[in-house]
Amino acid sequence: MGLGSFGGGIGVVKFLVERGAVVTVTDLKPAANLCEGLRAIGDFEKVALHLGGHDERDFRDADLVVVSPAVPKESRYLQVARDAGVAVSSEMNLFWERNQGQTICVTGSNGKSTTSALIYSLLANAAESSEVQTGPHIWLGGNIGHSLLPNVEQIAPADWVVLELSSFQLEDLAVLKPNPHVAVVTNFTPNHLDRHGSVDVYRTAKQNLLRWQTADRFAVQNQCDPDVASWRTNARQFWFGQEDEGRQGLFAVGFDAYRRRALFRYGMREQVLPLGNWLRLPGAHNFQNALAAACTTMILGQKPLDIEAGLTKFEGLPHRLQFVAETAGRKFYNDSKATTPEATLLALEAFRAPLILLAGGYDKGIDLAEFVRRLVARRVKAIGLLGQTGEKLKELLRQADPKGQVLAKVHVTFDAAFRWAAEQSVTGDIVLLSPGCASYDWFSNYEARGDEFSRLARNWQPRP
Ligand code: ADP
Repeated sequence: MGLGSFGGGIGVVKFLVERGAVVTVTDLKPAANLCEGLRAIGDFEKVALHLGGHDERDFRDADLVVVSPAVPKESRYLQVARDAGVAVSSEMNLFWERNQGQTICVTGSNGKSTTSALIYSLLANAAESSEVQTGPHIWLGGNIGHSLLPNVEQIAPADWVVLELSSFQLEDLAVLKPNPHVAVVTNFTPNHLDRHGSVDVYRTAKQNLLRWQTADRFAVQNQCDPDVASWRTNARQFWFGQEDEGRQGLFAVGFDAYRRRALFRYGMREQVLPLGNWLRLPGAHNFQNALAAACTTMILGQKPLDIEAGLTKFEGLPHRLQFVAETAGRKFYNDSKATTPEATLLALEAFRAPLILLAGGYDKGIDLAEFVRRLVARRVKAIGLLGQTGEKLKELLRQADPKGQVLAKVHVTFDAAFRWAAEQSVTGDIVLLSPGCASYDWFSNYEARGDEFSRLARNWQPRP
């Protein structure tokens, strides 16, 4: 139930078909909106498709219903399945029940994917460079957009499985009382309240990662997040944060925000790592993600040399402050994943160079006045305004910046906005796509928007 365009749904279909199950895929979306997912399961001729809506019979007559985390718990079709005594599960639950590997699970409101990918990069680099080629294998999956379910039988007990877990996946996992070897919590801010209903329900779901941990396991928590810092677990607690308060874990030390070092403390042992010199991702938030990731692998006994190799090789995930191109002294960064004003403000703080910004998009109806005031305060040089919110942002800018110090222009196509922004730049400037709004007005998703920006940036040449 719910195929999706990448990750979970496809993994489930592959896994079940390969084991001889008779599978029906049902989705509210019609086939035209599920192209990528359908292409990915295209080889499986025996899969029945019921798209563009659900049929109660599919839920009543099945042995098992596997539900996408995106489906609301109150769905009446799930009730039909339960009333008929049909088992209901999810991709992650099917994986968790079968997985033999050691798990490192990452959750939080922001930074989950980056932190998961960083942990994977640190461990996988060490595994590759190891002289012992038969060492444990490192796997990465979950909410990051890759299902490990089809591989579950290849995962050995000594392997490490890095899983990004969303609150929805953690809600479903509760029935299995998960006890991850390492639980990492990046931060907690109210999010997805439309789906969870209240902050408490959302927090309870996230806390499922720590709730059933036993004393032989580890938890890595954000010391600077007052919410997360109060979460309890029976596991051995380690912390990461901006300041050393004498706890066990990894903490920023020194005052220069751009060349930061970090102190690792484990029992009586203390060690300083020049983490800021190794990390190539911009932004204080990415430094935090690196603290969480390096703390995790240090606990597992990783050597600083391997952390250096893993961090210096890590180029960041696509669409998250991703460096795309440098032409004629201008650097182009794709931050299309910044679909909220907060994410864009975070991106602006990551750079010291003058900025030309591309912002605006789908109108969620949120108040953008404070966002615009902050853009003006940051002294962004010029803003190319995009999408449904373009005109609204222009009017707010007029109010916040009556002298017109920030150059701004509303555009009717993405291409025109990009060209205008690039033309405003001079050597030493940064051209940044960080829209602060969702993409659904002009694009199918934020990935398509970021890909288009990257394509234009790679082909751009200044006029002679
Ligand atoms: P998630 O998987 O939780 O959505 P990502 O790693 O994909 O997180 O990052 C998405 C966006 O969240 C980034 O582009 C950035 O704007 C913001 N972000 C990333 N890490 C952090 C952090 N540690 N604290 C606050 N915001 C962050």
